[in-house]
Amino acid sequence: MDRRSFLALGAKAAAGILFTQTVPALASSRPRAEEGVKNLAFYHTHTRECLDITYARNGVHDLKALCQINKYLRDFRTSEVHPIDPAILDILWQIQQEIGCRSTYEIISGYRSPKTNRRLRGKSAGVAKRSLHMNGQAVDIRLTGKNTRLVRDCAVALEQGGVGYYASSDFVHIDTGRFRVW
Ligand SMILES: [Zn+2]
Repeated sequence: MDRRSFLALGAKAAAGILFTQTVPALASSRPRAEEGVKNLAFYHTHTRECLDITYARNGVHDLKALCQINKYLRDFRTSEVHPIDPAILDILWQIQQEIGCRSTYEIISGYRSPKTNRRLRGKSAGVAKRSLHMNGQAVDIRLTGKNTRLVRDCAVALEQGGVGYYASSDFVHIDTGRFRVW
């Protein structure tokens, strides 16, 4: 799926998802992915939902999986769903290739509605006015069992978008805007 169809996907993002509500084992060693299959596992630190999903096969994004991911990475404060740029998933996947692991990604933040972003800006100086979280182009993550600084270094080495390191909160912001580091 290209960027334009990602942006057009909009409200079509409502598919039923089966979430497991139990706290996961947060495994750091999952079986190897099949050739040509791109699979990611998530644990959402706020909703406690898990998602283990194959989002692409042989270079083609799975639209149904992308819809599930859109819903999974919704603004958990308002429940608003927005398309997530699939390029973010590819960055997350490539970071794991770099590190050589298939650990679970812990999600701190995905999509943020303008309302939520405004509210967060009122509380924290680190929230951008035109945050790419509001475009579905950013996630805040850490990788279970891996040093967050290592995740940051791998993301920077990819030179594919923005990378922000928040040491005190132990997470990395990754977005699909232009390459920049903070
Ligand atoms: Zn962020």
